[in-house]
Amino acid sequence: MSDDGEVLELSHCEECGARFLPTDGACPRCGSTRIQPYPSPALGTVLAATEITSPPEGWHAPHRLALVELPEAVRLIAILDGALPARGSIVAVRRDGAVFRARSEPAR
Ligand SMILES: [Zn+2]
Repeated sequence: MSDDGEVLELSHCEECGARFLPTDGACPRCGSTRIQPYPSPALGTVLAATEITSPPEGWHAPHRLALVELPEAVRLIAILDGALPARGSIVAVRRDGAVFRARSEPAR
């Protein structure tokens, strides 16, 4: 699976058709363990974004986070690299270890 921000690996439930994160375990909708990987476009829409100016010790400030909706209505929280985007902005999402990161995507 690519890690260049173009595709994200989600989960697809063979039982009920739900698409979700994380990519292991059971389906959050029906509990099935018949889960298959599902590649999703890694561009999402910012539903909300915030900037934490006094983060916990060991974190950089300001710490910016966004609630991002991918295609198929899968939502995730991502650490923002760069400026705080407006609601409705399109961001590129990539996995970075156990977290997701998002950055503003130039208009095409
Ligand atoms: Zn299911």
